Amino acid sequence: MSSLLRIVRFTRSLAPLYTAVIACSVLTAAAGLAVPFLIGYATDTVSGAVTEGDDVSTAVRTVVLIAAAVLLAELITTVVSNVGGWFGDVMSNRMRTILSVRYYDKLLHLPQRWFDGEITGTIVARLNRSITEVTNFVKMMSNSFASMLITTFAVLVISAWYAWPLTALLLVVFPVYVWLTSLTSVKWQRLEAEKNEQVDIASGRFAEVVGQIRVVKSFVRERGELSDFARRFGSTDDTTREQSAHWHRMDVIRRAFLNLVFFGIYVIIFVRTVQGQFSLGEMVLLIQLMSMAKAPVESMSFVIDSAQRALAGSRDYFRVMETEVDPRTAALMAAHPTDGATTDGEAIDAPVEPVPGAPVISFREVDFAYEADEDVLHGIDFRVDRGEKVALVGESGGGKSTIVNLLLGLYEPRQGSIEVVGRPSADLPLDQLRSRIGVVFQDASLFSGTIRENIAYGRPEASDEDVVLAARGANAEAFVQRFPDGYEQVIGERGLKLSGGQRQRIAVARAILKDAPVLVLDEATSALDTKAEIQVQKGLDELMTGRTSLIIAHRLSTIAEVDRIITLRDGNIDEIGSPAELATSGGIYAQLLALQSSGDTRRLAKY
Ligand code: ADP
Repeated sequence: MSSLLRIVRFTRSLAPLYTAVIACSVLTAAAGLAVPFLIGYATDTVSGAVTEGDDVSTAVRTVVLIAAAVLLAELITTVVSNVGGWFGDVMSNRMRTILSVRYYDKLLHLPQRWFDGEITGTIVARLNRSITEVTNFVKMMSNSFASMLITTFAVLVISAWYAWPLTALLLVVFPVYVWLTSLTSVKWQRLEAEKNEQVDIASGRFAEVVGQIRVVKSFVRERGELSDFARRFGSTDDTTREQSAHWHRMDVIRRAFLNLVFFGIYVIIFVRTVQGQFSLGEMVLLIQLMSMAKAPVESMSFVIDSAQRALAGSRDYFRVMETEVDPRTAALMAAHPTDGATTDGEAIDAPVEPVPGAPVISFREVDFAYEADEDVLHGIDFRVDRGEKVALVGESGGGKSTIVNLLLGLYEPRQGSIEVVGRPSADLPLDQLRSRIGVVFQDASLFSGTIRENIAYGRPEASDEDVVLAARGANAEAFVQRFPDGYEQVIGERGLKLSGGQRQRIAVARAILKDAPVLVLDEATSALDTKAEIQVQKGLDELMTGRTSLIIAHRLSTIAEVDRIITLRDGNIDEIGSPAELATSGGIYAQLLALQSSGDTRRLAKY
C-alpha cells in the first residue's frame, strides 16, 4: 500500500483536484442519502392516509412534494457525480502526465550501466503498464467508489442510531472482505509480476524486431519470432486461469458471506417492524440504506482487483524511480527540473575555466571494468594537447571505444583519473564536460524527423543559416538540396531513408553545429565504402580544423595525418608516437601498415 501512497505524495501538486473530487463525492453521497429518508417519509404519509384515516388531499400534496424532492436529489446526484467524474478524468490524466514525465526524466539520467542490462521496448512496455494501472485505479476510485465509501460510512452512523446490531453486522463485513483478499494477495501479486514480466519481455522483443525488420526478413525468421512472442503471451494464459479461478472462488465465498450477513440484517429490520419498534417508513428507509451500503461492498472485489494491479504497477514504477544516479547526474537533474524552470542547454553552473597550458585530455593510470573483476583497460596513461590530433589504434575489442565512453563520463574509472582541460573530469558538471566534446560515432545515430532537426539536435535554436553552413562544412549541402523538401526532408526512423554516407555527413554536420572544442571520431568512416568515406572525410577535415581530436579509425589513410598514434593491445597501451616513428618500430601500427600494403585482408580484419 505504501507505494500507492507514495504515488499520491509524488503527485501532491494535484491536491486541488484531489480536493475537488472528494468534495464532489461527499456532495453526491449526501444528495443520494436524502432519497431513502424522503421515500421513508412518503411511506409513512401513505400508510397514515391509507390505514389511519389521515386527510387524503394533504397526504397527496405531501407525497407529490416528496417525489419532487427525490427528483431534485437525483438531479443533484447526477450533475455533481458527473462533475466529479470530470475532475477525476482530468486528475488521472494529469497524474499520468506527471508520472510519465518524471519517469522519463529519471530514465534519461540513469547511468549507462543500467541501460547495458535493459531492452528498450521492455522499458517502454513496463512504463505504460505500470502507469496505466495506477491511473485506472485512481479513475475508478474517483468516479464512483469514493462516494460509495462515504455513503457507507454515513449509513453505518445512521443505522447505529436506529439499531446498533445493524451497524455491528455491517462492520463485520469490511474486515472479513479485506482479510479474505489478503489471504491470496501475496500469491496473486507474485503471479501478476510473473505475467507482466513475460508480457514486457515479449513487447521488448517486438519493438526490437520491428526496428530490425530487414534482418528478420533476410533470415526468414518471421515464424521463429512469432512463435517466441506467442509462447510468452500464451504462458500468461495459464497464470491468468489460475489467478482468475482463485479470484472468482474467493468472490463466491465473499458474496455468500455478505448475503449471510444481510440475511441477519433483513431479519432484524422485518422482525422489529412487526414488533412495532420501526414504522413502515423507517423499515423502507433502513432497507434502502442497507442496500446502499451493500453496493460498495459488492464492488469492492473489483476495486481490490484494480488496487492490486495498481500496487504491482506502482512497485515497478518505483523500482526505476529509486535507481541510484551518481551525484553529478543528480546535480544535473536538480538543475533542470521537470517543471521546465530552466530550458535545455542553459548553463547552470559557473563555467569551469581551463587551466592554462594543461593538456585538453589526460588519462592517468586508468583501470576500468564493465563487469566486476574483468578489467578491459589497464593503466591507461596518455595526454592530448590543445590542437593535437591523436589516433587510437588496435585490435577490435582492445578498449578504444571504452576510452571514449570514459572520456564522455558515461562510466567512471575503477582506478586512476581523467582530466579535461586540466580539471578532474569527475569534478566537471556533466553538461559542461559533454558540451565540450563533439562525437561522431560509427553508426550515425540519427533520429526520425527532418534533416534540419537532426543537424540542429545539439542546438535546436540554431538559425537556418547556421544549419546550412554546418551542412556545407560536412559536405552534405549538395545531396540535401537534391531532396524535394531539402532541409525539411523527413528521414525515417534512425535516418533509414538515407544512405550510410549521407547519414554520416548529417552526423558530421550535427557535430560542426555543436561547435565543441574537443572532437571524438569513433570509427566515423569505418562502415562506409571508399567513395562515401572520401565524401565524409572532407566533412571531417573541416570539422577537425582548429579542434583537438581523438580519432579511432581502422583505415590507415585516416590516421596517417595525425600528430600522434596510441596503439592498444588487450586494454594496455602498447606504443605512443608519431606515425613516422611507429611505422618503423615493429609494433601494431607497423604491422597494420605491412598488412595493408600486402593486402592481407583476412588478418587486417582483426583491426
Ligand atoms: P574497441 O573499441 O577497441 O573495439 P571496446 O572498447 O568496444 O573495444 O571493448 C573493449 C572490451 O570491453 C571488449 O572486450 C568488449 O566486449 C567489452 N565491452 C564493451 N562494451 C561493454 C559493455 N557495455 N558491457 C560489458 N562489456 C563491454
